[in-house]
Amino acid sequence: MASHPINEPILGFAPGSAERTQLQAEMDRQMSEVVEIPCVINGEEVFTGNTTTPVIPHDHGHVLANVHLAGKAEMEAACQAAVDAQEEWIGLGLEGRCQIFERCADLLAGDWRMRVNAATMLNQSKTAFQAEIDAACELIDFWRFNCHYARGFHDDFQPLVSPSGVENSTEIRPLEGFVLAVTPFNFTSIAANLPSAPAIVGCTSVWKPSRNSYHSNYVLMQLMMDAGLPDGVINFLPGSGAEITAAALANPDFAGLHFTGSTATFQGLWKEIANSLSNLRSYPRIVGETGGKDFVVAHPECDRQGLLVALLRGSFEYQGQKCSAASRAYVPSSVWEAIREDLCSEIGKIRMGDARDFSNFMTAVIDQRAFDKITGYIERSRERDTCEVIVGGGSDGSKGWFIEPTIIVTTDASSETMVEEIFGPVLTVYVYEDTDFEAVLGLCDEASPYALTGSIFASNEEDVQTAFDALRFTAGNFYINDKPTGAVVAQQPFGGARASGTNDKAGGPLNLLRWISPRSVKRTLDIPQDWGYPFMQPE
Ligand code: NAD
Repeated sequence: MASHPINEPILGFAPGSAERTQLQAEMDRQMSEVVEIPCVINGEEVFTGNTTTPVIPHDHGHVLANVHLAGKAEMEAACQAAVDAQEEWIGLGLEGRCQIFERCADLLAGDWRMRVNAATMLNQSKTAFQAEIDAACELIDFWRFNCHYARGFHDDFQPLVSPSGVENSTEIRPLEGFVLAVTPFNFTSIAANLPSAPAIVGCTSVWKPSRNSYHSNYVLMQLMMDAGLPDGVINFLPGSGAEITAAALANPDFAGLHFTGSTATFQGLWKEIANSLSNLRSYPRIVGETGGKDFVVAHPECDRQGLLVALLRGSFEYQGQKCSAASRAYVPSSVWEAIREDLCSEIGKIRMGDARDFSNFMTAVIDQRAFDKITGYIERSRERDTCEVIVGGGSDGSKGWFIEPTIIVTTDASSETMVEEIFGPVLTVYVYEDTDFEAVLGLCDEASPYALTGSIFASNEEDVQTAFDALRFTAGNFYINDKPTGAVVAQQPFGGARASGTNDKAGGPLNLLRWISPRSVKRTLDIPQDWGYPFMQPE
């Protein structure tokens, strides 16, 4: 069997550990300065003077950085820089490109690890563990495994047949032109992976980071430059998504969109691309991983304590701001009666506060807009007869945007919080009659337009199989007796279908294939010297 990379081991940050001391010192250092964050265009740092000042979500009086936003001229220049850099980038060859991204992975696994983790903890309010599994381990894995998969294409996709006198081959070309990477706030790893996965196979890109992760994303841009990424291959462009998209689509060499974010934003971008087709040199590739309404279905016979832990971790880690977070659960009444009290009492033990205090399991949600949206869902559910907030429900936005871990129990399987993506620490539970397991699988399948992740908790294999079949298209990542979060690169390639995205499976070879446009090559060794064919000979 071919050798392959291994997943990056996760550091524990236990009390007294060296990594804990280093991480705390690095956070103190980052908090003592206000970083100037430029655009990076063709390797040049561009300070536009039109700035915004991101704050720490759990301490929103604290300004982290002064970010210089791109204007129209910078946007156009960045797109053109990406176009101009592609020829040399292709010329470097796959091996040269992989060496650069493997160096990125080594730097992140080594000296840069605490810098990136600390930036993620402060910029996006992650705990040490959530930052470590995202910003460090997942991104190291993306870079190492994507290089491994890309090397595989060169051998796997060669033509099966070359008859005598002919040599057939396939050139694994990248798309012609540049890729626009529009990235979300909630995973630092995804943000850096979206411009770099196409780059590994020879595309160049314009990277538009989320306004809520400029600080951590810029640290990664610096890391990639430190690892020797040539000028223009990835251009870092803080600024308006709508304006950057317009600039990208005005350039005929726009070759693809690599997007992760909300469903509404992606659908708008798809339409804009469709409307621009006549200006473009190629049909662009469109890859988008979008929202979710991720479920847990429990069977009357299941591991009840395991279910409790899965609901708690799956719903409330990173304040529920994972696309995969459990946000609706279908629990049979016998199981619910057995776990309800314990679940509420365990949730009551969750500590929430500053990311620098390692005893906290949760911190703040990302910004005022998220705070208002999530608390709005909770308040509206209080007004409904069919809903009851049984734990949490409180919030305090005075110092940071804190929202308590909240459970709503509903008798209406189609109530707002059972079907819409909330993207916060809110789980809605629908309690069903023990005899209705199969009917509830149908409800789960049809309730929401999304199909990202979901879990079945059942002890008997037959019941697992019933759910597996009934929920075939309800989740792109399906978990059996586990929480629906925590996909690992090269173990559970990630992505969903229906309204959750194009399901191109980040962290797997299928995603990389979207960024290539192969050229088939036939070389004739016995060159025909006569234009006639045998059938034309006289009888
Ligand atoms: P978002 O849609 O608000 O923003 C995503 C990106 O799109 C940002 O960079 C933003 O600036 C940009 N953007 C917003 N409006 C734009 C426009 N009109 N034109 C161009 N760009 C625009 O999403 P978010 O709040 O950053 O992230 C949360 C969402 O992402 C959730 O819906 C979550 O489920 C989803 N998500 C999905 C996955 C997945 O793999 N399926 C992973 C992470 C996050």
